[in-house]
Amino acid sequence: MMRATLLKLSESPRLARWVTRNPVSRRVARRFVAGESLDDAIAAARACNQKGMMASLDYLGENVSNAADARRARDTYWNVFDRIAREKLNANVSLKITQLGLDLDANACAELLASIVERAASHGNFVRIDMEGSPYTQRTIELCKRVRAKNAAVGTVIQSYLRRSEADVKDLIAVGCRIRLCKGAYQEPPDIAFPDKADVDANYLTLMKLMLPSGIYHGIATHDPAMIDATKQFAAEKGIGKEQFEFQMLYGIRTDLQEQLVGEGYRMRIYIPYGRDWFPYFMRRLAERPANLMFFLRSLFRK
Ligand SMILES: Cc1cc2nc3c(=O)[nH]c(=O)nc-3n(C[C@H](O)[C@H](O)[C@H](O)COP(=O)(O)OP(=O)(O)OC[C@H]3O[C@@H](n4cnc5c(N)ncnc54)[C@H](O)[C@@H]3O)c2cc1C
Repeated sequence: MMRATLLKLSESPRLARWVTRNPVSRRVARRFVAGESLDDAIAAARACNQKGMMASLDYLGENVSNAADARRARDTYWNVFDRIAREKLNANVSLKITQLGLDLDANACAELLASIVERAASHGNFVRIDMEGSPYTQRTIELCKRVRAKNAAVGTVIQSYLRRSEADVKDLIAVGCRIRLCKGAYQEPPDIAFPDKADVDANYLTLMKLMLPSGIYHGIATHDPAMIDATKQFAAEKGIGKEQFEFQMLYGIRTDLQEQLVGEGYRMRIYIPYGRDWFPYFMRRLAERPANLMFFLRSLFRK
């Protein structure tokens, strides 16, 4: 109930304006967001690299309302790739295709995405297309496959809460596409997504077991120790080396577990969001964990 309410509120422009201007929420959000500038994100990525972790930079923004903003997002990502290369960082990019104007013009969006993937490939780098809510699932997969057919430096994300995901994983593996597996962060109806956590977790393991033996380099994105232990055990049983896949976690979440896995010799990539448009991302992080919401509310009242 609380999760659904927070996810609904994450779409409110009025609340976004209030929260992003409020000094207390700005401070609390810094736990999950590296900062508002590319310099902040680069500093966070460098700190990850120094701890033996890779990074994925996300310039926050989604559902742009005009073509100029979509082109500006493309320019920003070109710059991010150039900067990563100049600074010799071990980092790639995660982006949302609604930030590239998917809702305005699908063909123009595909061209912007293709140009970002080309820039990534010119640096020997990689673009991950984040997965948004279910109205975008099919279009995200189609766009990824379309752009990937010309340039393989792109992959996408599959959410284990969706009932359709097993078919999507098989489809993407068949074309050699790299997948990030996560549980899913949006509010979805029960005919589309499993309402029970136990089913989401069981499907996560089913999908992980389809992905790891595929010979493609995939990302296992979760902070859930049960998912992580099962992945480690399955990989060991099947003789899948630690260098053949990576774990991924979000900036600011379970840093202890991030360090532990690196210490055990696993590959770890940290998803680093930055930018001014952090409100929806922040709300999804609050929705995932009641303790985060309580911390936020206590901070507001203490003020
Ligand atoms: C690298 C990465 C990329 C992602 N990309 C996408 C994407 O493209 N599309 C999408 O829909 N979702 C994405 N997600 C979010 C994901 O779908 C989940 O909502 C989120 O990761 C929580 O699920 P979990 O696997 O950690 O398991 P859960 O069962 O939710 O949590 C397990 C444990 O992790 C810790 N934890 C989880 N979330 C939080 C939090 N917010 N704050 C503090 N502790 C927490 C807690 O200790 C919790 O007990 C991504 C997640 C990661 C790690």
